[in-house]
Amino acid sequence: MPDTPPSVPNFTQWPSFPFEGDLRVKQLDDPVATEPHRRGEGDRECTACGAPDEAYIWADERWRVRAMDRPTGLPMVLILESRSHLDLGDLPNLLAAELGVLTVRLERAIRSLDGVSRVHVNRWGDGSAHLHLWFLARPHGQLQLRGTFLPLWDSILPPIPESTWRENLALVAAWLADFGGRQLAEPTRIQWQAPASFGAVEAVGHSETAAAEAEAETARGTEAAETALGEGSSTFVARQRSATGSGGTAQGGGTAGSGGAVESGGAEEPDAAPGGETGSVAISADADVVPAGTDVPAGDAGAGAAEGGAASARLAVDPGPQVGGEGGLDSADSGATPR
Ligand SMILES: [Zn+2]
Repeated sequence: MPDTPPSVPNFTQWPSFPFEGDLRVKQLDDPVATEPHRRGEGDRECTACGAPDEAYIWADERWRVRAMDRPTGLPMVLILESRSHLDLGDLPNLLAAELGVLTVRLERAIRSLDGVSRVHVNRWGDGSAHLHLWFLARPHGQLQLRGTFLPLWDSILPPIPESTWRENLALVAAWLADFGGRQLAEPTRIQWQAPASFGAVEAVGHSETAAAEAEAETARGTEAAETALGEGSSTFVARQRSATGSGGTAQGGGTAGSGGAVESGGAEEPDAAPGGETGSVAISADADVVPAGTDVPAGDAGAGAAEGGAASARLAVDPGPQVGGEGGLDSADSGATPR
């Protein structure tokens, strides 16, 4: 090891680099002779194999898609997993071909969401042996988020509103289900009531909301504990929420005297009507998403360069705090906490 640490590389000067101030390059640990088992390897349990379909937003016989356990800074972060316990290089031809089709489909679905300019697709696999691909949506117009550091920004930016997040998950799930499989994330329900019955219904509606909130909190607490163990089991709680119809109103509500419809209007898209709507949206949107922004932004040059250096990233064994694990995005490219 040299006594004088190397100077910081040029990318610390890029507009997309999330930090400023004095930086030092870390000392690199000596390489280990034997790498530790990943989850799903050796004696380590596989989180993906153990997770029920309900932990996912969409599933079919061979693939499943899941979200984080809560909203994060980016408009959408999803993980595509094979159902079988295989890693990327192990895929038989059928699955390999399907992976290509699903990757493209999922990219389109996420890019069709409001406010999404681009979808970054990443595979690290240093934390888990079970194949999982990351899909990270870059918000429209946020040029500083272009390229390699997007996974870092996901942890830096304030989380997006939960109602928006749940609505987006349902839209993506509906899009995928349009081609097959099962949509597991449901759209949040608008509690529409005739004006004459507002008073009576309101009390019920609010108590339901509170109950669902409490339930979701409990679920979240459990998940946080799991994630703290580095397993990143992001059980998807949207279903509990939407089952009671409180997802949207919980966010938009709280104003005394506002009816269900008014609350939802505040928090959701006005046309997020219950039932069936998302399916047709998915179909029509699918036809015309492709052309948007196929040019390559300047930031991508950096991403390419960084990929070459991926192998040098020192991989943290433990995930970061809170979302950690899977949530702490495997940014092996930029040396964060790849899993
Ligand atoms: Zn597995």
